[in-house]
Amino acid sequence: MIKKIFFLICISFSYSIFAENKISGISGEIIISPLSKMDFSNKQIFYTEYDEIRYAIIGMPYSLQEKIISIGNNKITLLPKDYGESRINIADSSKVMLSKENAARATEEALLIKKNIALYSHKSLTDLDFNLPVDGIISSRFGKKRFINNIPRSPHMALDIAAPQGTSIFSPSNGKVILIGNFFYGGKYALLDHGMGLLTSYSHMSEILVEEGMIINKGQEIGLVGSTGRVTGPHLHWTVYLNKERVNPELFLNKNIIKTISNF
Ligand SMILES: [Zn+2]
Repeated sequence: MIKKIFFLICISFSYSIFAENKISGISGEIIISPLSKMDFSNKQIFYTEYDEIRYAIIGMPYSLQEKIISIGNNKITLLPKDYGESRINIADSSKVMLSKENAARATEEALLIKKNIALYSHKSLTDLDFNLPVDGIISSRFGKKRFINNIPRSPHMALDIAAPQGTSIFSPSNGKVILIGNFFYGGKYALLDHGMGLLTSYSHMSEILVEEGMIINKGQEIGLVGSTGRVTGPHLHWTVYLNKERVNPELFLNKNIIKTISNF
């Protein structure tokens, strides 16, 4: 009898430890956790310090299915999220059905962006309290499944802010310009590095007002809203990258991250 009770205690004890260490994240969102509760070994991640405690901030990949992923030595249950869908029509078929030349160009540009997104600079420049970069109307939210001329495409992994052509775009946080270009999809484009794997990009601009290598202050004008690249009208396509994953930019607005950390 005593043996049986002891066995039951052991079972419930090990279960509670397991449950406590269970980490889950949501598709396209972020995990904020005290660094001591996760194990990243040599994986380079974003972290910040608050009240002498370090907090890891980890971007979750986009997924339509529940699955287990590994980040560092952590097993994370990734949960899907329904972000809705958007349907647009593009009359210029050359922008939808790519010619061989355009497809090759788009692939080459995607590789260039991917290479720059993978950069990890060791110092964080940001205060994690982003401003919306354009005074405009949010015209397409992050994560929507997209259909162009009724054909399913990759989901919308950024925030679209519509504003008249020529409206100023301001940097949401301190950072460094690490790439500018005029790309097939993104048009006039700038990529800012905010440090520790947190980067933001700005697409479809009519003018780029910064140069590669420039250090940018929060609130500094970096370009003007336009409709360069593959677009239906003037807007800013604003992307936020964290540990190479595209995450919902709205998570970085309204002091959301700072509030979460201060409530731990
Ligand atoms: Zn967009």
